[in-house]
Amino acid sequence: MSTKEDPAVTNFRNYIRIKTVQPNPDYASSTKFLQDQAKDVGAEFLVVECMPGKPAVIMTLPGEDPCLPSLLLNSHTDVVPVFPEHWKYDPFSAHKDENGDIYGRGTQDMKSVGIQYLEAIKRLKKDGHKFLRTVHLTFVPEEEVGGLNGMGKLVEMDLFKRLQVGLALDEGYSNPTNAMTAFYGQRSICSLVVTCPGQPGHGSQFLENTAGEKARRIINSFLGFRDAEERRLKENPDLKLGDVTTINLTILEGGVQFNVLPAELKLSFDIRVCPAQVETFEDKVRGWCKEAGEGVTYKLREPFRQMEQMCVEEGKNPWWDTFAAACKKANVELEKEIFPASTDMKFLRAMGIDAIGFTPMNNTPRLLHDHNEYLNEKVFLRGIDIYYQLIHDLANLKPF
Ligand code: ZN
Repeated sequence: MSTKEDPAVTNFRNYIRIKTVQPNPDYASSTKFLQDQAKDVGAEFLVVECMPGKPAVIMTLPGEDPCLPSLLLNSHTDVVPVFPEHWKYDPFSAHKDENGDIYGRGTQDMKSVGIQYLEAIKRLKKDGHKFLRTVHLTFVPEEEVGGLNGMGKLVEMDLFKRLQVGLALDEGYSNPTNAMTAFYGQRSICSLVVTCPGQPGHGSQFLENTAGEKARRIINSFLGFRDAEERRLKENPDLKLGDVTTINLTILEGGVQFNVLPAELKLSFDIRVCPAQVETFEDKVRGWCKEAGEGVTYKLREPFRQMEQMCVEEGKNPWWDTFAAACKKANVELEKEIFPASTDMKFLRAMGIDAIGFTPMNNTPRLLHDHNEYLNEKVFLRGIDIYYQLIHDLANLKPF
């Protein structure tokens, strides 16, 4: 245990110690840290404000043919809040235990990946490798609060178009098995509010047309579908979470007093629709509301829409083929999946850019956003080897 720590691990732990935690991330310190990193890897360095006080850092390593579509390595700098009383160690101390497990907010999501990109590039340069294509690294703010004021703004800038991104790599998440997962699309996310109006009156009677009965039917329909999807997932080992739809009741509102029937009850649902069901899902919702009774309506915060996917069919997309081949060379057992939640890749894919969500973290419990988030240093270091191969092969992909 007295052996010297790998400088890449030290670098990673230093990044964890910067409190870029929502809702008040210290972006000034992370920007300063990244400026030093850019110097270390010999990359051009640029800071752009997506919004006042919300900086994105862009590093660039020009390729031998800068006209070719580039490779973008994206990560976000912010992390989600913590409940320190539930942590074994201070979540911003980057404590390393005797197993080499490094504890800290952002160890999985996703400061590890940001440093792994940088360390892989450092090594590639040290070994004398050149890139045919330009490689950009973006470190963006505000992903953990939806990304609208981070990547969402960055992609709209002319400056971003000038990066000419051909392929972007971004986050996935850890895999508890020996495999690693590449995400090539995501589910359609929707928050939906159902309003059930009803006959008000004294709570002592059998009134007709009550809000409570309608709410019960709504819950039965929505959560009945939830049960069916859960069963479908459990019964078919080929299906992943991204292949089914999840529905969760998240807010119940209404009522004024225990003996007064409410004139209205509201139910909010968090819904993530798998690609195969997007086209027909709203009809289902409409039907459920109709069946629930008179006057039941629903409101969507944004429409259900099919999210863009990257083509990952063998032999059809040289970016994917190169990615998959490089993983194989690096002995990665690769699985491909639809991402069950949402990341900044949605902004890139909406621009027509191919994007793969990949976090090279296997045999690691999925602790993103959870207490005691940690990453073992060996897994972290292997991730650098994997990016070494990936960046090398992708940045040297011949024109097609
Ligand atoms: Zn993340």
